[in-house]
Amino acid sequence: MQNIDEGYIKFGCHHKKVEKLPVTVPEELKKTRDRMHQLGLIGHYDELNVGYGNISIKIPEGILISATQTGKTEHINDNDFALVTNYDIDKNMVWCLGKKRASSETMTHAALYEADETIQAIIHIHNKKLWQKYLHKLPTTNPAVPYGTPEMAYEMKRLYQESSDVKQYNTIIMGGHEEGIISFGQSLKEAQESINKIYNA
Ligand SMILES: [Zn+2]
Repeated sequence: MQNIDEGYIKFGCHHKKVEKLPVTVPEELKKTRDRMHQLGLIGHYDELNVGYGNISIKIPEGILISATQTGKTEHINDNDFALVTNYDIDKNMVWCLGKKRASSETMTHAALYEADETIQAIIHIHNKKLWQKYLHKLPTTNPAVPYGTPEMAYEMKRLYQESSDVKQYNTIIMGGHEEGIISFGQSLKEAQESINKIYNA
């Protein structure tokens, strides 16, 4: 599990702590996240004491993403989300506000939103069986590219632009991030369906 380092924030984060987010967290976002948690696709590695998996949507104000270290939470609430208002991939830096900091994988989400502006929702899950099954069968990022780096963000964009399969499956296997899979869509529903497709196959 050498590549599992979810939860450690490698990127810089300008975090403005606020008691209440200035935007509404849609019920559908919380429900979808809880469903993923129920399936164990978002959760917590007890032995490493770190959370894994995260979910985000694009809104006019920025990116609304599940906060870091929320993997143990069964039923997520508004305070478990952060609003990312700005980011800089090269500097590996995000600006966010909320009661908690944005997920350490924010940059990967940001890169995908940048790669295709029709993407509105992203779900990042962890599952060893699915990861092993689909590694290099579905579009897979270069295993040499470590998770949580600007390189991973660029690798996501490269793969998105170069592989037509990415658009067909709406799923990317993170080669350099053991167990990591990222699915997306033009809506939360579509992102969820992309997960269902590989989960139920
Ligand atoms: Zn991950």
